[in-house]
Order: sequence, then C-alpha cells, then structure tokens
Amino acid sequence: MKIADIKPEVYEMAARVQKRLAEQFAEFDAVAEVNTRRVMEAFQNNRVSDACFAGTTGYGYDDLGREVLDKIYAEIFGTEAALVRINFVNGTHALTAAMFSLVKPGDKILAVTGMPYDTLRSAIGISGDCHGSLKFYGVEYGQVDLTDAGEPDYEAIAKAAAEENVTAVMIQRSRGYADRKALTVEEIGRICSVVKEVNPNINIMVDNCYGEFTDVIEPTNVGADIIAGSLIKNPGGGIAPTGGYIAGRQELVDNAAMRLTTPGIGGECGSTLGNNRLLFQGLFLAPHTVAQALKTACFCAGMMDEMGIESSPAWNEKRSDIIQMVKLGSADNMKRFCLGIQAGAPVDSYVTPEPWAMPGYDCPVIMAAGAFIQGSSIELSADGPMREPYIAYMQGGLTYESGKFGIMMAVSAMLDKE
Ligand SMILES: *Cc1c(COP(=O)(O)O)cnc(C)c1O
Repeated sequence: MKIADIKPEVYEMAARVQKRLAEQFAEFDAVAEVNTRRVMEAFQNNRVSDACFAGTTGYGYDDLGREVLDKIYAEIFGTEAALVRINFVNGTHALTAAMFSLVKPGDKILAVTGMPYDTLRSAIGISGDCHGSLKFYGVEYGQVDLTDAGEPDYEAIAKAAAEENVTAVMIQRSRGYADRKALTVEEIGRICSVVKEVNPNINIMVDNCYGEFTDVIEPTNVGADIIAGSLIKNPGGGIAPTGGYIAGRQELVDNAAMRLTTPGIGGECGSTLGNNRLLFQGLFLAPHTVAQALKTACFCAGMMDEMGIESSPAWNEKRSDIIQMVKLGSADNMKRFCLGIQAGAPVDSYVTPEPWAMPGYDCPVIMAAGAFIQGSSIELSADGPMREPYIAYMQGGLTYESGKFGIMMAVSAMLDKE
C-alpha cells in the first residue's frame, strides 16, 4: 500500500474530521507550550552547554551531561532527584528499579489500578518464578482492581493500604495494553491523598509510561513519591536511542540507583558513550512530539467515529496518555488497519504485518511499526492480539502530518474490502 492509494473519499473524511478537532488540537498545542516553557527554563537554570554533550567511556565517573540531565529531569518533574540513564534497558527496567527502591523483605507492595503492565508481572513475581523478583526477596504483593466503570476504587484502596506491612503503593497512569482508561493526574492525586491519609509513610510510585507531557502537571506534582518511564516513549522525544528515567524523592532515587548498578556505586557510574546530546535534544523536543502523537491519536479517534468503529478515548475526551484503543471487530479489519499504519511509517513501509505467535502470549499478535529506533512507540505504531474483539492499540507519530497519512491509509485499507 502506498500514499497514492489513499482514496479521495478518505481525504474528504479527513478534512471533515480535522475541522471537528480544532478545539482539541488547540488544547494539545497549549499544553505543549506550557511544557516547552518548563523544559526551557530547566535547561536555562542548569546552564546547559556544549560541554554537556561530551560523553564518558569506561566507568563513567564525573559525566557532566549525565549529572546536569538528572537535575533537569528533577526540576521538570518537581522532584528532589532524578536518574536518567541509557543504562536502563527499557521502561520495565527503570520501573523495576523504582519498585525495589520502596521495599525490604517482609513488606507488601500494593497495585491499586488493577493488574500491572505485562512485563512487570515477572519482576513482581505475579507470574513466573524468576530469580531476583520482588517475591523472591520476600516482598508480598496485593492488588486493588479498578471498578467496573474503570475508576479507581478509592474505598477499597483505603482499606487495603491500611494493612500493616504495606509500605508501597503502585499506580499505572496509562491504559497500557488493557481495555481501561488512562488515569488523569487529578485522579492520581486523589489516590495519593487517600493513601497518605491512611498511612503517610507509604511511598507511592507511578508507572508514568506514555503519560509524560500529555498534561501540564505530572504525578509528582500531586503526591507521587517516585515515577519512572521509558526514553523510547514520550520524554525521549523520538530522539533518545534507548534508556529510562526515574524521578522522585532523593532517598528513593538513591535506592533505585543502587539497584540499577550495585550497592555502593549507585548513580556515580555509568558511561554515556556519546549519547548525552540525544537525551538532551529529545527532552527538548518531547513536549512538541507528544502533542504530535496526541493529535495523531485524536485524529484516529475522529476517523474511527466516522467509520462507526468504537475507539477509546473518544475524540473529544480528555487524554492522559498517547494511546488510542480501536475495537476493530474482525481479524480482517485488524490486518487492514495494521497494514495502513505500517505503510505510514518512514522505515519498512513496504512490508505487510502478519500475526505471529509471540512468546508469552496465548494467541497470535499483530504488530505494525517502522521506526528509526527499534521498538520506539513514540513513533507511529500499532499492535494487538488476534482474538475477539480484535482490539488494536495505536500510538505515536513523530509528526502529526505523517501520523495522519498512516491513519488515512489504514482507513483506505479498511474501505478497500467493500
Ligand atoms: C511501555 C510500558 C511499560 C514498560 O515497557 P518497556 O517496553 O519495558 O519500556 C510499562 N508500563 C506501561 C504502562 C507501559 O506502557
């Protein structure tokens, strides 16, 4: 499928939809402006200079760029400290280090927004039996599900948090790849108040993946003690080649650094191998890039609305992550949707995504992605399990214009069968 294959009626539909989204787009731009200002101020206050871009090798002692970037993240997220490292292999790694910063053997960690993201389950010990999981070290796990309406169950959270050995509470902001809504920062703030009222000593961690810069405030502005996320999602701005970040209270960030490297070394080591500039540049672009992804997701919601296909969030709903859930209803639609998204990628646009049996999944999974950075999901991508009700999760788009073409090709491919 090529851009030239987009049907004339899809251009008409797109023009109609885009007109309808003017208010939403203006809001995304306004959020990006506020966040850009915050990022720029942090760059200025921390005197970013050319010298920050030189990297270290070997042990990586005294890496100026690394140290300045930590301070910048801390300022942006309003925290005492931050740990921004290419040495985190992914978001899961950063989140795991953050979880370990909160507990000791005998403690209990409580997930209060239902089952955590897939990859965290083995780190916690909910599934599998991995050496070194929280469970392995004698940390108990508890869970409070979201209500049937997808809201936090504040009463049940208060009750569960009152248990004596609960020292940590975990919140997942984004819908991840689950049929639930993303939590707004306000909702996260309310959970924080409920928990701290029951026990002010509980540390609250937020899985902030996909949420950064979608709002003008972050979970750390409303009571979260520590947050973590991936640099090949929002805060890397599509430029950071790998890595993760943690931001939070000094003591907790220090603990997490000990888990990332080794006890006694913490954040003092970790060479940056010439990647500092990319992390700075990515962060500088991130508020804008996130707005591009939000526009792409919102445009997708509008187009699906025109197609009579259920999707969430709706085009006019408030967003707290960059993910668009699309209920495609059939295997054929799923393949066509992914074909279009794939064709909208700058890399590998000519390949046809096919479902495959991915390890750890109980049914074939289809994925569309053609990214400059492998696995980067701030770049346009979509995937989903090949089973009823055939839900695809779409996210990213480094530029709205390119994301829009991807969605238009997806719609064209779906109309093709009629
Ligand atoms: C992406 C994501 C993670 C971490 O995934 P990685 O692929 O390891 O970066 C964790 N939680 C949520 C909600 C996510 O979206």
